[in-house]
Amino acid sequence: MLELEAVSKRYGGAIALHATDLSISPGRTTVLIGPSGCGKSTLLRLMIGLIQPDTGSIRFGGTLLTAANILEQRREMGYVIQEGGLFPHFTAQGNITLVADHLGWDKVRIQQRLGELVILTRFPSEALDRYPTQLSGGQRQRVALMRALMLDPDLLLLDEPLGALDPLNRYELQSELKNVFRSLGKTVVMVTHDMGEAAYFGDHIVLLQEGTIVQQGKIQDFVERP
Ligand code: ADP
Ligand code: ADP
Repeated sequence: MLELEAVSKRYGGAIALHATDLSISPGRTTVLIGPSGCGKSTLLRLMIGLIQPDTGSIRFGGTLLTAANILEQRREMGYVIQEGGLFPHFTAQGNITLVADHLGWDKVRIQQRLGELVILTRFPSEALDRYPTQLSGGQRQRVALMRALMLDPDLLLLDEPLGALDPLNRYELQSELKNVFRSLGKTVVMVTHDMGEAAYFGDHIVLLQEGTIVQQGKIQDFVERP
């Protein structure tokens, strides 16, 4: 689904990601984990083409990602960040349908898709007309998830999607997210620094340290045995 080969990235003089190979399998959830500053977000932003690698190549469904095709390719990628990243001057619905509106989807199709997403994420439909500041943290993340899923992308990338929530909301949204992943059967890449979350979501776990992948495998591979 996504193939990274010898991908590296530096910011100014500092290396954020050393030459990295990584393969993301379709239909599964891959979790990127590691301490703060180890390069998780950098890796995710490279995958979605928000930043360009200094070296190496990234293929998405066999196609080499380039500056020229990234906008088109990104329609097959949904992206969710920690604090939603919602547009403050659009309502929940406005945020979710923005791109579909822009692409000229007809109103019936948009409403139909919106209806599916509201059910999928258990979002209260009466809150669709509210602005981001009028929503709870958990609701904002549901809106961000619906926006990411609107065009039914092949790949879903999430950067600490539960990181800004209080423990109760995190617990609730965690199980809902997992249901969404499972019911859609999508390819998911998720960043977290929480091993419990990694164990809960990850079919495949990738551990980063100081810009290098130091271990990857199933959760069982990370548990020390006597
Ligand atoms: P993580 O997501 O694991 O916390 P990041 O990928 O955000 O790590 O950051 C990796 C390293 O790159 C860190 O040392 C961070 O300070 C640095 N870094 C990240 N983004 C930038 C940026 N835009 N400019 C300069 N340095 C950055
Ligand atoms: P939760 O995230 O799951 O609902 P919160 O404690 O964040 O829990 O919010 C509790 C309630 O307060 C929610 O029903 C939410 O809609 C409302 N709320 C949160 N923030 C705001 C806000 N800035 N303006 C209006 N209502 C808000």
